Amino acid sequence: MTKQTALLLFHGELRELLAGRRRGAERVELPVTRRASVKDAVEALGPPHTEIHRILFEGDEVDFAQPLTPGARVEFFPAAPPVDPRRPSLLRPPLSRIVFIVDANVGRLATFLRLLGLDAAYCFAWSDERLAELASAEGRIALSRDRALLKRKAITHGRLIRASQPEEQLREVVDFYGLREFAFFSRCLRCNEPLLPVPKNEIEHRLLPLTRKYYQEFHRCPVCERIYWPGSHHEKLTERMARLLG
Ligand SMILES: [Zn+2]
Repeated sequence: MTKQTALLLFHGELRELLAGRRRGAERVELPVTRRASVKDAVEALGPPHTEIHRILFEGDEVDFAQPLTPGARVEFFPAAPPVDPRRPSLLRPPLSRIVFIVDANVGRLATFLRLLGLDAAYCFAWSDERLAELASAEGRIALSRDRALLKRKAITHGRLIRASQPEEQLREVVDFYGLREFAFFSRCLRCNEPLLPVPKNEIEHRLLPLTRKYYQEFHRCPVCERIYWPGSHHEKLTERMARLLG
């Protein structure tokens, strides 16, 4: 190693996130030609900062702002799931609760998360900038398949979704964050709002005859007024989710 390069070492799944011919590499010698932080250096190689959960600079734990210097040896570590974003870390401020914001490229994942009762903000019309602003303002974990989005500084917590199928993506998120407690059908699948119980007589006129006859308990979304009840569709979905989550 010459004096003008830094040695970057990548552990575990981070190696697969290195771009181009470097994919899979364990070590990268990077020319240090200008003042750059370790965040800039690592992201230029492919992995978004959200995928990095520990950095050792010459053996000392550092944060993303650490400048890269010639001759330095820097090690990057991926997450060791289950990850609890409420725990303090040198790399990112702790979140007060586990809530998500879902990018349009994994839109159906938002519906699945809501089905489990998890708070998942989503709107297909949000720009990357808007999504990053909301993630920051509301302390949400950004879920996306877009590395460029996750490289934005405003996004402190995020996860690059690997799976392409929505059910596998759900599994991925549930396992990654070690989520174990779910409240099936407690949230509107359309709006993400928590549902409220509603007396049957208030909504009876909106029900089909068989639903009116066989069901007594109903919930309503306070935003879109959609009505939910534990019908056969509800049971099938709950079973499917339970199977999926083991
Ligand atoms: Zn709703």
